[in-house]
Amino acid sequence: HALAQARARSTAGSAADTTPVTLTGTIMRASQAIELHAAGAHGIGLLATELLFLGEEQKLTDEEQHYQTYRTIARAVGDAPVTLRTLDIGGDKDMPELRLPREDNPFLGVRGIRLSLRRRDLFLPQLRAAYRAARDDGARLRLMFPMVTNIEEFIQAAQIAREVQAELAAPGLPLGVMVEVPACALAVDQFAEHVDFLSIGMNDLTQYLTATSRTSPALAHDIDPLHVAVTRTVRSVATTGAANDVAVSACGGLAGDPVGAVVLASLGVTALTVAVPHLPDVRDALRRTDETSLATIRNHALETGGSRHLRPLVHSLLDL
Ligand code: PEP
Ligand code: MG
Repeated sequence: HALAQARARSTAGSAADTTPVTLTGTIMRASQAIELHAAGAHGIGLLATELLFLGEEQKLTDEEQHYQTYRTIARAVGDAPVTLRTLDIGGDKDMPELRLPREDNPFLGVRGIRLSLRRRDLFLPQLRAAYRAARDDGARLRLMFPMVTNIEEFIQAAQIAREVQAELAAPGLPLGVMVEVPACALAVDQFAEHVDFLSIGMNDLTQYLTATSRTSPALAHDIDPLHVAVTRTVRSVATTGAANDVAVSACGGLAGDPVGAVVLASLGVTALTVAVPHLPDVRDALRRTDETSLATIRNHALETGGSRHLRPLVHSLLDL
């Protein structure tokens, strides 16, 4: 009976213009920003800057290249914010041109912010370019640091960013971290005191929590971003964020999957970052939800979890 009621309500809600969460986009090339804006995304939740210059890695250290690219992208999305993730090199994102030392365990090595803090020649050009775009164009940029593990890393990165800001007499930009290392998720209360926003990286968080490689074809059917350990972690991050007035969004493959998006919304994530081709289906699924269906989904996600259990449940509840 409750199921039928939930279904009736969710069908009624499908005409509504609003979804329970904000939908932002992700792009791989600057030229896709216009397409994203046209698709109705509220700005860019993840601008993965390392992807912008794939095959042209020499541009990574070129401040002017970053500057022009950020300006183009910010203009394309109008007044909406652009969350610029500083270089996330290492792990699966190899940049041969940089000739970084080989590591036995690249996913646990000098990745993301760990590299940026060791290589100012990579970090500074993009920080300078971002603050210049904000100063010259009023670009609504936000800076997000990947693979942050310790609060000290964030404090150090934020200090470098603020020095650049002062030097350029630029406006301040919101500073946030990706929650994708379990240590960061477990200690997120410490981060919530310092950051302006948090964004959960579902791909890496799942990989590291479940010790399952995101790139292993042999494990492609085993890796489960809806594993109960993952859903509980997302819930705890969302709750801590809400208690501290810090917005918590989610990005990664799960956010672009209609079932995953609904589960993430049920867990209290307030924005989802989705690639253009997935926007319509994700929007449709979210519009079919209401408070009752979301509560049911949240209970199942936190008690049992697992794709095998949650996928059929969400499909039947929302008539997907
Ligand atoms: C993630 O880890 O979920 C994420 C969005 O970042 P990437 O896939 O680029 O590591
Ligand atoms: Mg990641």
